[in-house]
Amino acid sequence: MPGFELFGADERKQVNDVLETGILMRFGFDGARKGIWKAKELEATISKKFGCRYTHLVSSGTTALSTVLGALGIGYGDEVIMPTFTFVASFESIISVGALPVLVDVDDTLTLNPDAVRKAITPKTKCVMPVHMCGAQADMDSLQQICKEHNLILLEDACQSTGATYKGKYLGTIGDAGCYSFDFVKIVTCGEGGAIVTNREDVYLKSDGFSDHGHDHIGVDRGADLHPYLGYNYRISELHAAVGLAQFSRIDEFLAKQRAGHSQLKAILAQLPEISFRRVLDEAGDSCTFLSWFLPTTELTQAVVAELKAQNAWGGNFYWFDHNWHYIRKWEHLKQGVTLNALHPEYKAAIMQQANKDFGPSDAVMSRGVSTQISLLISEQQIKEKGEKIVAAVKKVLAAQKISA
Ligand SMILES: *Cc1c(COP(=O)(O)O)cnc(C)c1O
Repeated sequence: MPGFELFGADERKQVNDVLETGILMRFGFDGARKGIWKAKELEATISKKFGCRYTHLVSSGTTALSTVLGALGIGYGDEVIMPTFTFVASFESIISVGALPVLVDVDDTLTLNPDAVRKAITPKTKCVMPVHMCGAQADMDSLQQICKEHNLILLEDACQSTGATYKGKYLGTIGDAGCYSFDFVKIVTCGEGGAIVTNREDVYLKSDGFSDHGHDHIGVDRGADLHPYLGYNYRISELHAAVGLAQFSRIDEFLAKQRAGHSQLKAILAQLPEISFRRVLDEAGDSCTFLSWFLPTTELTQAVVAELKAQNAWGGNFYWFDHNWHYIRKWEHLKQGVTLNALHPEYKAAIMQQANKDFGPSDAVMSRGVSTQISLLISEQQIKEKGEKIVAAVKKVLAAQKISA
């Protein structure tokens, strides 16, 4: 996955362009910046490449989500449907605007199960937020259909899937709006950064204002413009945008490397009938940041994880079921409603009620799944070794189970 693995002269040049003018702010200072507008340039580059009308950069993927939720008018009294397998930013951003995160099961696509989404809809549901986890797609046809039937907003968290497509369209550009993360471990990095993409002018303009204290950015002088509504400071800096420009220009190269490594590794693991793979809805559009695979039982999976760890061969693999940041099972702070700022007691109770529901169908999938990250630096030989170690570990555990049976 991470673009930081491939930094080069272009990143340095882009940053130096900004350092030479000394204008690190993305707005204003028109004369002093000598025509250098890195954030604007990256926004135009992303819109062009991904075929969407608007891109707005912000300081992170998390603030992109908070910003666009605000711009979409989602808040008090609204329910937002999100998956049990994601990053904590999903519920953080929903809570940041005062809405209720409604957690819903994932299936073997590792993303929202559309049937579970249907069952979770109430009169208060305002938005469905699929998360395109680990580089590949949620079922956008089904989710679009559901949102159309129930008049809901469709907001794509594509933070882990920048550059992936679904039936020819870039993830993030299919729903009402989408978000990307350019944090340090994503496929394209700014150091820290994020983006909102949308075809809706209203969502774009409100995102632009919300992420800059409500400035309407109309008029020449910064400060002489108006603040039609409250906002926050979620701005990206020119330095971060400069790094992103260099990184984003290489996205096709990064994707090609990942796709090659992914198919090589998949061919090795596919030799074992016990290993199955994540159901990917559009294989050609998978960004292939990870190869996600399953074993038949939780017990077998946990034994294989332990075996790979014992052999010091676990690096680059993720068992999300046990992961503190990505799966409901370990989100104790959410389940207990622990916040530093006091919440209204009824709102806090509703959050806790959501987080403490039974997620048996998610557990049944997540407890059997491992994701192997595809590094941009890994060689064919290293992938071969990695794959063979996984195969050997599975074989060893299977043999031991037969003996003990
Ligand atoms: C990384 C990530 C985010 C948040 O992005 P940051 O830039 O780290 O704030 C949100 N959602 C998902 C699924 C992510 O992986």
